[in-house]
Amino acid sequence: MFTSFTRWAWMVAAYLSSGALAQLDKPIMSPAVPFDHTDPILFEHLSPTASTYDQWGWGWLPLRCKAVAEAEGLNPYDVNVYNVHYEDCDQAWVMCRHHGAQVSLEQMIDNFGRLPVRLRNIVRHQFAIPGDGLLAYTYSDLGDIVFTGDIGQYIRFWVHEAGHAVDRNINPSQGDYSSSDAWINEYNKDGYICDEYAKTNMAENFAQEVIVALFDKVIPGGIGSIVPNWNDIFHQYATVQAVMGDMLIPGGTCNRRFADDTIVCMGPAAGCESSKRDYEQGNSTETYTAESEDPVICTLG
Ligand SMILES: [Zn+2]
Repeated sequence: MFTSFTRWAWMVAAYLSSGALAQLDKPIMSPAVPFDHTDPILFEHLSPTASTYDQWGWGWLPLRCKAVAEAEGLNPYDVNVYNVHYEDCDQAWVMCRHHGAQVSLEQMIDNFGRLPVRLRNIVRHQFAIPGDGLLAYTYSDLGDIVFTGDIGQYIRFWVHEAGHAVDRNINPSQGDYSSSDAWINEYNKDGYICDEYAKTNMAENFAQEVIVALFDKVIPGGIGSIVPNWNDIFHQYATVQAVMGDMLIPGGTCNRRFADDTIVCMGPAAGCESSKRDYEQGNSTETYTAESEDPVICTLG
């Protein structure tokens, strides 16, 4: 999902310089956390949130969705945009879905609605696009998540990707929390990491631990109900629980972290330039185009 080799090379260089891309050398606990077993259990214990949605008129979309579509070689005219209204929030989440995406709109709405609303707060926009394999990436600075492939049954990916936005926004001026001394000190108290994917780098390890932390909070019996050697990673997931607090606890109401993205015209064929419709009200004037951070890319399966 790299737009060019140049961009890829830049990203690698940026990550190497920060140390964030370094593979972790701590051993994987044995048995590892069976993440592929967590989805049905999470579906059972995370209740859906009642919702309704309405579709935008064709022609307009959030800037992020247009930029991602163009970077992916997709046509912005093929993107459908929805306001999704959950009963625990008076503000709609705007979701984008390319009409060829394997994941359905209903799955996107259901999965996202099962996340505790105080965790949903960190997510701004979601965009489902078609693609082979399971892949997601998150513009963690602003909580925009792109999902690729047939991911509907994997609710843990929603948790993992939101976890990257949490990581980036605990102390936003300081970079990722997973790169902080506070995190490294706790990480060093454990002898192990949770699974093979966590070995990728510290940001991926943190996002996996967000799944562990949520599972431990919402499932009766906690993480110990699926992995007996939970103590091998206790300091990591307990630290995630401490810094996230009630973001991991269902209930409450929304307090959205980010204003919605700027709304733009799909392109000249949409004729938006001549439209008198007012899409400015209630939308952020914040633009990220010139200084957008690159996304955290996750190869999920
Ligand atoms: Zn990830």
